[in-house]
Amino acid sequence: MNARISEMDKIKWENSVWFFDIDDTLSDTSDVSSDATEGIRRVFKNKYGDDTALAVKNQVNAYYNLMLSGYRVKNEKGWESVEGGKEAFQNLLQTVEKFQPSIVKEFGAMKKWSREIFVKMASDRLGISVTPELVHEAVDAYWVELSRITSAYPDAVELIKEIKIHNRPIYLLTSSDARLKMQPDGKFIYDPVYSEALKRERIELLREKGIDFNILSIGDPEDKPHRDFFEKAIKKASEEYGSSIDLSNSIMVGDSFSGDLQTPKEQMGFGLVVLVDRTKPHLEVIDEHQINTDNLMQVTKFII
Ligand SMILES: [Mg+2]
Repeated sequence: MNARISEMDKIKWENSVWFFDIDDTLSDTSDVSSDATEGIRRVFKNKYGDDTALAVKNQVNAYYNLMLSGYRVKNEKGWESVEGGKEAFQNLLQTVEKFQPSIVKEFGAMKKWSREIFVKMASDRLGISVTPELVHEAVDAYWVELSRITSAYPDAVELIKEIKIHNRPIYLLTSSDARLKMQPDGKFIYDPVYSEALKRERIELLREKGIDFNILSIGDPEDKPHRDFFEKAIKKASEEYGSSIDLSNSIMVGDSFSGDLQTPKEQMGFGLVVLVDRTKPHLEVIDEHQINTDNLMQVTKFII
């Protein structure tokens, strides 16, 4: 399986164009998510006291962790390590979907990651009635806290520096944060402009943490892994680049094969895709267009 490095058609630095996913590729978003719900706890504490606030926080974390572990399952056996298994995950999806009938209708798919919905579900479960204002305040506090405590991975900062030394462009492509608005009837609506603006604010803060980039493209409303999500990013990147980008000299880096890499690799002809998984030390050459590694600096071995 393991193709040899020498068989790869290496991309030249001087032609290289770099595309990166952000969350869990450049920054430790999901690692700090459980701590960021401290923001939700603080907001609920002011209104409902310590015990209820802690219960809401823990329940939101449970929903998020179940969503994340279900999302990361790669095969049937993978469900064994998900608490409650496939059934629990599917129940969660169904419940989340029930809160957003107009979104499904208008945009064709539900938003899985809305922290607003997780907060509402946690409140319902605990028998607390919440206003849209409270939900929005709690989720704002969550994202502010997350932006404050998230950090960029050292290997990511190092690679970004290296790319900038070579004076090559860096384009970031990121999913929507699905910042939904609760309505008085308890259902949620989606305004892509609002959601995108909030994500942009959050990502701009990463510049201070060593993530330098040319431009950012966000998955509102078309999101990964849809081809339109990547087409939009490439179009924006080409405008910034000043000419059309040769995708065979482009590199896409992400932490999810199906979310970040499959479409660029299999449908769009990217020269190289890089799957990062920092849970175990490794460098695997999957084929002439893909490497898997725990350290992004390994990518420089494939550029000449
Ligand atoms: Mg990611």
